[in-house]
Amino acid sequence: MEKHLKEMICEVGKRIYENGLVAANDGNITVRIDKNVVLTTPTGVSKGYMTPEMILKVDLEGNLLEKSEYKPSSELKMHLRVYKLRPDVNAVVHAHPPYATVFSFSDVDINKPILTESTVLLGKIGIAPYATPSTEEVPNSIEDFLISKEGDAVLLSNHGALTFAHDLMAAYFRMESLEFHAKLLFISLQLGTPKTIKEDKLKELYQIRNNLFGM
Ligand SMILES: [Zn+2]
Repeated sequence: MEKHLKEMICEVGKRIYENGLVAANDGNITVRIDKNVVLTTPTGVSKGYMTPEMILKVDLEGNLLEKSEYKPSSELKMHLRVYKLRPDVNAVVHAHPPYATVFSFSDVDINKPILTESTVLLGKIGIAPYATPSTEEVPNSIEDFLISKEGDAVLLSNHGALTFAHDLMAAYFRMESLEFHAKLLFISLQLGTPKTIKEDKLKELYQIRNNLFGM
């Protein structure tokens, strides 16, 4: 099981890299395998070229549980905050998806309900205030959104995005879905004002989301 999850983390790393959702050594992926045990990607390594031996095991405080020549990312803190505040979450993906990240420093609100699929999958997209990388500011910046339980994707201002779910593939697909939504919204804004889903129909989508994911 653990071996399989390490392989899956490498596979998702390859996908976020090859799909242009990160550049160079950016991004990180974690999976919770026990209440207080998390597998995490290492720092300083391209997520497109990882092997299962590089994946680290830590507790919810970030302490290494197995010796390794690799080190966890300083961004691990934000993943651990998600696990602490969202007991339903077992996987977190952090990437720098270009279109979604543009909305993190734009005046245009990314929360325009233009697509049924991403509305159901993501819920409300959170927008965390600017935070200095590697500091406690980063996990603190997403805390309000996590507690609100309004959605499963959050933009980190001038930085990137974070998506989470009950399992790794679902968390990865939410990252894809977030970027797809941002890309279509960006394109539609070139044509004029997008027609959004009407309020009463939006409520129906949130009801479907509630039925599927219990929120
Ligand atoms: Zn980052």
